[in-house]
Amino acid sequence: MINKVKGTYDVLPNESYKWQYLEQKIREITKKYNFKEIRTPIMEYSGVIHRETELSDMVTKETYNFIDKGNREVTLRPEGTAGVIRSYVENKLYAQNDLIKAYYIEAMFRYERPQKGRYRQFMQFGIEAIGSKSPLLDAEVIAMSSDFISSLGLKNVVIELNSIGDVDSRMKYQEALINYLTPFKEELSFDSKERLIKNPLRILDSKDSKDQEIVKNAPKPIDYLSDESKKYFEDVIKYLEAFNIVYQVNNTLVRGLDYYSEIVFEVKAQIEGFGAQNVLGGGGRYENLVSELGGPKTSAIGVAFGMERLLLALEYENVLPNEEDNLDVFVITFGENEKIYGTKILNGLRNKGLTVDIEFDNKSFKAQLKKAINKNAKVLVIVGEDEVKNNTVTIKNTKTEKQVTVENQKIYETIKNELENLKWEHIIIMNWQLKMLAKM
Ligand code: AMP
Repeated sequence: MINKVKGTYDVLPNESYKWQYLEQKIREITKKYNFKEIRTPIMEYSGVIHRETELSDMVTKETYNFIDKGNREVTLRPEGTAGVIRSYVENKLYAQNDLIKAYYIEAMFRYERPQKGRYRQFMQFGIEAIGSKSPLLDAEVIAMSSDFISSLGLKNVVIELNSIGDVDSRMKYQEALINYLTPFKEELSFDSKERLIKNPLRILDSKDSKDQEIVKNAPKPIDYLSDESKKYFEDVIKYLEAFNIVYQVNNTLVRGLDYYSEIVFEVKAQIEGFGAQNVLGGGGRYENLVSELGGPKTSAIGVAFGMERLLLALEYENVLPNEEDNLDVFVITFGENEKIYGTKILNGLRNKGLTVDIEFDNKSFKAQLKKAINKNAKVLVIVGEDEVKNNTVTIKNTKTEKQVTVENQKIYETIKNELENLKWEHIIIMNWQLKMLAKM
């Protein structure tokens, strides 16, 4: 047996409904905020991902790179933004519209140490709003993130927000940070020693406890913001308040990806024992990526959520609905003739829009019945010798156990009635349970 690739996972047929549920919620929220889906290839030429200016750990160490047969360097995308921007530029989307609001639901690939909630292939739901630098747009993306989390029924999720300022503010801040950190150089973790030269801001969100201790007293980006950046941050907050969004300013927040400037934010759950996985998503504004990839000088803001983490949080908080039983009819037949007759019935019912299944092998009545019950079929269609002879079928409601034999023309109508009754019965039972609960 050959196992799955390390750090990957299978979504099995009895679990896929969870993914479909999450995807449906994504489609609903993006529709509400008027974002349209974009689908880009899973691989890009490495230059799209490994740009000259890129400094972050993620992109340098953690990607799947290969040379294709045409001797081109290709990288499996580790995040969605670079590919979306490559597509925005290549397709000249800026010429179609001054603002593009796009979202994606796609697999990402990062060669990192797999652990719970951290995979080498994982799914992200991300959105990008490209073409405008407006504090209202920042607030819109953050509001949508918050609304999305609420629509999933997750509670105790906070939006943490910070400004790392424009390029000038960042440069000044970086200098101050290097000055502060240099005396601690020998005490920093191996990765942070490297970051001190390449991307000191990243040391602020190091997971190493010694690093965390050292950065506690480090200068904060907020104290180095230019007047424009300060004003921008304040304006974003004003709009967030207009959207009625609950947020917390976190002065130490920076994001792992290196292209951010001005606003950065994270969506954090507060589930005990969840640790770093509490970061469900994060994003920020980026100002140079579009021009770096050959497009016009234009600004954008985006966010990405880890979908495995969202599902884990939903399960943990018990807000994931159960799979709906959708098998309307199971056809049970005896013998070869009956199977052909049963197939015609099955085909007719499917064409009317019902979900119908049948036993494919030759099995006893008992075995077929057991299977139908296991699959939670609502109605059984039973075809025996008599039914074939008389052009009828026997219909059994699995919940009420009511059984009738009807003529061929009446099959659909009878089943439809039984399914309707089941709906009512379900509601009656629910009401009855609610009344019982009210009395308790
Ligand atoms: P990032 O693109 O690093 O800002 O990550 C955005 C979100 O994607 C994170 O908050 C996580 O929820 C998720 N994520 C990042 N890396 C992984 C991974 N290796 N496995 C699963 N989820 C991930």
